[in-house]
Amino acid sequence: MIVGERKPFVEICDRLQGFKKVLVLGCGTCVSVCMAGGEKEVELLASQLRMANGLKDGDVEIIEATIQRQCDKEYIEPILEKARECDAVLSAGCGAGVQLVAEMLQTLPVIPALNTRFIGVALGEGVWSERCRACGNCLLADYGGICPMTLCPKSLVNGPCGGSKEGKCETSPERDCAWMLIYERLRKQGKLDRMRGLAPLKDYSAQSHPARQVNEAYVKAEMEASHSK
Ligand code: SF4
Ligand code: SF4
Repeated sequence: MIVGERKPFVEICDRLQGFKKVLVLGCGTCVSVCMAGGEKEVELLASQLRMANGLKDGDVEIIEATIQRQCDKEYIEPILEKARECDAVLSAGCGAGVQLVAEMLQTLPVIPALNTRFIGVALGEGVWSERCRACGNCLLADYGGICPMTLCPKSLVNGPCGGSKEGKCETSPERDCAWMLIYERLRKQGKLDRMRGLAPLKDYSAQSHPARQVNEAYVKAEMEASHSK
């Protein structure tokens, strides 16, 4: 999932200066699971904004809503009318969600309430860890299901650097060396021979941005739509 965290409240307040009616918009998917931008967090943020506004004797109206996903037009459409009654939207979606909401509203400012951090996994209650950089050419089959692109800060695909010490990464004694993890995993799987050859250079061409993907069932419709523009 995409993991995000709320921006500092002071920064959010700064960005909202001058607006008289603000829609705080949550997202019910990834950022809800990582407790940053779901319904509960939006309720809390909206209350904090109302309190801060009350303390300043302000007259800013804060309304709130949470939709299932901010990265999908069909879920944004039903709140467009409500959003257009406001001066600004404070989006608690990830960076992709904020951009799609802004694209659909065009003239209305859409302000991010979160910092989008990474694609990761939940390790336990309230703890997430990065696992994938969306490189577009997944190598996990060669590395026992451990991503050297992500877990090694240098994204080394051919074994550890000279700084690996007692199984720890040279960038932090708190962090396991990704290559120690890969070695251990391949050893358990009886596949250490995978470490003997040189892996080809990582092909970064699949990582060009902005990436685009069209499901094969929709290629024809997509071509027709782009020709009719
Ligand atoms: S190899 Fe690429 S796609 Fe696969 S987990 Fe790593 S970054 Fe993600
Ligand atoms: S010590 Fe290991 S994880 Fe850290 S940078 Fe070197 S190879 Fe990568």
